[in-house]
Amino acid sequence: MLIRVRQLTKIYQMGDAVVSALAGVDLDIEAGEFVSITGASGSGKSTFMHLLGCLDRATSGSYDLADTPVTRLSEKRLARIRNREIGFVFQTFNLINRTTALDNVAVPLVYGRLRDTRRKALDALEKVGLSHRAKHTPAEMSGGERQRVAIARAIVNDPALILADEPTGNLDSQTGEQILQIFERLHAAGTTVLLVTHEMSVAARAQRLIHMTDGLIDTDVPVTEQLRRELLQSTVIGAQIEQAATADRLTARAG
Ligand code: ADP
Ligand code: MG
Repeated sequence: MLIRVRQLTKIYQMGDAVVSALAGVDLDIEAGEFVSITGASGSGKSTFMHLLGCLDRATSGSYDLADTPVTRLSEKRLARIRNREIGFVFQTFNLINRTTALDNVAVPLVYGRLRDTRRKALDALEKVGLSHRAKHTPAEMSGGERQRVAIARAIVNDPALILADEPTGNLDSQTGEQILQIFERLHAAGTTVLLVTHEMSVAARAQRLIHMTDGLIDTDVPVTEQLRRELLQSTVIGAQIEQAATADRLTARAG
């Protein structure tokens, strides 16, 4: 099991207000899966991704990544895992705007040996089809190109796990499609991909679909051909996904 999460919680305290952003999540994900996570705004998707990405710590519960008990690690070991094992892609790209694509992609390599930095960064840019733009800065690039640079940065250390939080949220659908194809290629090459999206047509691209409500997973189903068709027609949302998936399984059994 690549990811094993048990009773994971995250509580934010804002003055007198207490927000239970994650309310005790259980989840297993095997290496090589392609999973989408959907849910209304505020349902805890980003909080969950930040915990899985070791960008933040849980309030309670356990998270094991490749049998390493992440929730009990020191800051130093956590930073190492974040850097080596995980690639994170954000909706807003989070690039350094004044520095070249190549240097942006090389950022996670500063902890490694400097020797191969340039070659590795170029390889990663090549994988997203941007090696010809290596010397350009994000300021000179389109949104789609910026996100491809961000993906190159996420994959430069060849991580086992890619976490993407609404990666197509700021892009038009055609550009978003290019980004999705990159994730599909990474998945095909063996990388585990977790993709947060509120667009059902994007969620439909994964093999497994998770839906969150109020800090909990309320739906976790395989994306069958039938479900994919329904998601692409946007005829199902939220709790209806479970119904559609159940109907789908029943149909499959009857057939
Ligand atoms: P989503 O990504 O599904 O929109 P989030 O994980 O961002 O949901 O948020 C879940 C809940 O936690 C929301 O109620 C949000 O307001 C709250 N929340 C998220 N981050 C913080 C924070 N840093 N401080 C306080 N509350 C937060
Ligand atoms: Mg979010």
